[in-house]
Formats: sequence, structure tokens, C-alpha cells
Amino acid sequence: MADSKRINKEDTGRLLDEWSKEFSVSVPSRENGMPAMLPWDGKDTSFLEWYRNTVIPPKANFFPPYEKMFDFQKGAEGYHLELPPSDKQKQLIFGIRPCDARALTILDTVFQDTYQDPYYLSRRANTVLVGLGCTNPYDSCFCTSLGISPGESTDVDLMFTDTGDGFFIEPVSDKGRELLAATGGLEDGLEADEARAKDVKEAAYRKITRRIDTGDIQQRLAACFENQDYWEKVAAKCVSCGICTFLCPTCYCFDINDELSQDEGTRFRSWDSCSFPIYTRMPMENPRQEKWRRVRQKVCHKYWFYPVNLDITACTGCGRCIRLCPVNWDITQTLNNLPASS
Ligand code: SF4
Ligand code: SF4
Repeated sequence: MADSKRINKEDTGRLLDEWSKEFSVSVPSRENGMPAMLPWDGKDTSFLEWYRNTVIPPKANFFPPYEKMFDFQKGAEGYHLELPPSDKQKQLIFGIRPCDARALTILDTVFQDTYQDPYYLSRRANTVLVGLGCTNPYDSCFCTSLGISPGESTDVDLMFTDTGDGFFIEPVSDKGRELLAATGGLEDGLEADEARAKDVKEAAYRKITRRIDTGDIQQRLAACFENQDYWEKVAAKCVSCGICTFLCPTCYCFDINDELSQDEGTRFRSWDSCSFPIYTRMPMENPRQEKWRRVRQKVCHKYWFYPVNLDITACTGCGRCIRLCPVNWDITQTLNNLPASS
């Protein structure tokens, strides 16, 4: 309970208002009906009533669907590049779910450890993550199979737990502890709040009933990798729309395009998807022409190749790829029915 605080829900707007003096604050909001983490308008806290999780994952706040990388001009001595100013704006994301905070830790292994991505890293360094534990997870969620608790997180700076009329607030990182110490108008957390928060977290954990068997998953995927019949059956209804990868909080593939005007231009990048038949067609031909090979790649990348290369499973069990797929493709069914051999 040390360092913990409490706040009444009706004071949430005042708290966000105070944080807005230092940060660009984003909260769960709807843009054209689509929930995402968007800049707070300074008054609306109705998300406290409707928010379960966003459709657009918070990765978009660090790695936007479309962004300018740099301008370039051709001169006598070659090309001159002009990078956009580094994103120094301090941002605070309020309400991120534990699964999506873990997804950022997973993305760090690509954008920070595999190579240094200046666009992602400057936003990541300047952001405070304020987590909000789930109390009403979806049927499609299976985060507990990936070692994630819907009510707790080590991947945020501060953690809020809904205790009914208010929130129990716990610092998780030094950044969160400093922010909490500098924030006015909070009361000290009480033992009764902590006990209530513990009950809420345990109840949320019990609500996750969808599960996958992760035991020996790499070996089991390897054993059936060449089982074309199985992967064809699994992929049959997929329409290669790419939604499951665009909206997956851990998918990071991007395409690069130049807009050219004589000797100058702008380079952009935009989300790409291994589900698309035209994926990687520019540098080479897509090595996965058949749909079943692309579906197999998506599953094996998350549960086999990524853990082998980067020591972490690239799935958080957020369930977006299940609830947002237009044809009800289900990664948990695919993983739970792997045949024993090829
Ligand atoms: S969302 Fe569904 S239909 Fe679209 S690519 Fe993914 S699995 Fe296929
Ligand atoms: S693969 Fe599906 S469940 Fe796993 S993180 Fe991506 S969208 Fe969420």
C-alpha cells in the first residue's frame, strides 16, 4: 500500500486537467465511431462508462498508421535529407490496458533492440503510461494464457484499479512514482481500497475463460509446419483483408513510399501486412503466394520465430484479431487444434 493513492471517479476530469498542463493527454475516445487513444478534449470522461478496449491499438500513438520519415532533395553532391523535428512533446496515455502495455514492451524489442527507430523511440521516451485494469474483458480475450493479468501490469508507469466509486492508484515505475508525488488532490490509499482492488483484480482474472495451450508451442508448430492440409483448412475462410495484423498491437511491418517531384520528394511509411498477397512485392516477389502460407506465417511468427529470435512471444491475447475479423477467424482455435505431425 506504500505510495498508493485514491481518487473519486468524479474527480477524474480534474486529474486529467492537471496532467494536461504538462502533457498531451490521450484517453479512450471514438473517432468516426472507432475507439482509439486520442487527445483528451478537456471535458469528456464518458469513456469511464463505455470503454472496454480500443479498436485501434495504442501502438498507433508511437508508430502511426502513416507518417512522414523525411524530405529529400537531389543536389550536385548527392541527396540532402531533412528529418522532421524529433517528437519532444510529452504525452500521457490514460487508461491503457495491461495487454496493450505489454505489446509496447514487445515492440521495444524491434524498434529499440533490433535497430534504433528514432520516430518510435522519441515518442516512447516522452510518454507516461497510466494503466487501467480491465473489469469487463471480452469473450475473445485470452491474456492470462500469455502470463498477463487483466488487472495488473509491470509495463506501465501508474496503475489504476476501478474500486467502484473511485480508483486505487499504484505507482509501478520511477516515472510513475515521480508523477504521483507531483500530482495534487489525491488522497493516500487506504487498506480498504487495497483490499477492494485485490478483489477486483482477482475477479477480472477469473473472467478470462478463453485459453490456449502454450506448452511446447514452438515444438508443436515445428511438428506440423509442413502439414499443408491443416494450414489450408485453417486459412480457408480468410479473405486476406489484413485487419488482424493492422489492429494487432504487436504487428510492426511497414511499407515505405516516396512522393517525388523532379529532384525533391518526401518519404513516408505506412503499416503493411503479411496477410496481403502483394506483401514484399517491391523488393522481391512475395515468397508466400498461397494464402495458407501467409496465415501459417502470421501464427508461427508470433509463437515460434519471434520468441526464438527475440525471446518473447509476440501475442498478448488481446483478442482483437478474433473479435474484429470479418470472417471469424480465430487464432486460439488454430493453436488449440494443431495436429501432432505433418
Ligand atoms: S482479419 Fe480475418 S479475414 Fe482478415 S486477414 Fe485476418 S484472418 Fe484473414
Ligand atoms: S495475435 Fe491477436 S490476440 Fe495476439 S496480440 Fe495480436 S491481435 Fe491480440
